Amino acid sequence: MSHRLIACEHCDYLHVEEDIPAGSVAYCVRCGSPLYSAAQARFDKPLALAITAFLLFLIANSYPVLTFAMEGRVESNTLGSGVVTFWREGFPFLAIMVAVTSMLAPLGLILAHIYVLAPITLNKQVPGMQQVWRILAMIRPWSMLDVFLIGLLVALTKLTDFAEVIAGPAFFAICCLIPTVLLMNVTLDSRYVWRRLAPGTLRYPTSDDIADADHQKEPLLTCHTCAMVVLGNGRQDVRCPRCGDLVHLRKPRSLSRAWALLLAAVILYVPANVFPIMTVTYLGRGEADTILSGVSALINAGEWPIAIVVFAASILVPIVKIVLLGWVYLATALGLSGPLRERTLIYRVTELVGRWSMVDVFMVSILAALVKLGDIATVQPGFGAVAFCGVVILTMLSAMAFDPRLIWDRAGMQSGRGAMLGGTNSKQDRGEKQGVPS
Ligand SMILES: [Zn+2]
Ligand SMILES: [Zn+2]
Repeated sequence: MSHRLIACEHCDYLHVEEDIPAGSVAYCVRCGSPLYSAAQARFDKPLALAITAFLLFLIANSYPVLTFAMEGRVESNTLGSGVVTFWREGFPFLAIMVAVTSMLAPLGLILAHIYVLAPITLNKQVPGMQQVWRILAMIRPWSMLDVFLIGLLVALTKLTDFAEVIAGPAFFAICCLIPTVLLMNVTLDSRYVWRRLAPGTLRYPTSDDIADADHQKEPLLTCHTCAMVVLGNGRQDVRCPRCGDLVHLRKPRSLSRAWALLLAAVILYVPANVFPIMTVTYLGRGEADTILSGVSALINAGEWPIAIVVFAASILVPIVKIVLLGWVYLATALGLSGPLRERTLIYRVTELVGRWSMVDVFMVSILAALVKLGDIATVQPGFGAVAFCGVVILTMLSAMAFDPRLIWDRAGMQSGRGAMLGGTNSKQDRGEKQGVPS
């Protein structure tokens, strides 16, 4: 009996895919990263959630998010107000980044799900389904509506001290939209979508291909987009037969690109903390706020929970991320052995948490759009916000450029792929099952 192959995307360890009990997750036996979950191949549930999310997105964009009343004057903002304000005040980079992360990427994510899942549910074919699902993998990391909500809460905390603030219908729509999108992602295993989109004639490499002596020395490549294991046929890069993307043995020039982007982030980190992220003018008195002074202002106001969140997202996460990524890259460049499993875990965590640092950028976009009361009170964005947004984007790009499989390659762990076949560990039997199933 032959079994489909699955390679760990973090360490390239080759596994044989097995059926695992419902509700459990299969983990890589070598680095401990999750491989796949035992989700049912159902498409109607995530489709219903995607349609709900689309309706909520429409509400979130059609009504005010916050309404702000002060000295008899009332201002309200919509989701796009921050983008318009950044653009008008001469910050096009911030305008584009806020537009992409809080509007375009979430909308693209939702529409891509509807475009692909609706025909699958109805057993129909529409053109470009594979391309849409491929683009989805690219935009997914840039959808940050959940981070935007935290930015909104921070802005709300800052405003309630000196004005009356009312949450509008869009605020509640965003609050409902985030769990809907989360649930949509949880109920859908992207692998099953790729299997449905695969050409009918596609043959998956199985354990038989590896048992075959001729294939032992041939490189097996893993598609970065759809995670299919592809027979290299002696080449280092081929077209994926399932999704059509270019498949490389390893991401090209991964380590040098990751280093360059991280170094640029380190340089930008200085102006990000020295220059003000915004200037608040209240009754003719202007006060510049840096990242650090913003946190201390929250502490002085006694807003401890929000102060901790902002401190963690804006100060702790960027520094820790830069230091840890630098250490992972250095250890990889030097080919150090040692705790490879922990190093892979650190990389996975830094990749996940980096986006939360956008909180302060979103907060400035909301405050600058809302507080426009002429002589009474205004908030103007500052260059610090541009630099800080740059740091967040560059560290994210750096982590994306890095190929975590190099951690294992460089430590001399890549040889003997044919012999590396192992079963997958589900939650129940983690760490026990290994070896080659029939
Ligand atoms: Zn692994
Ligand atoms: Zn592919």
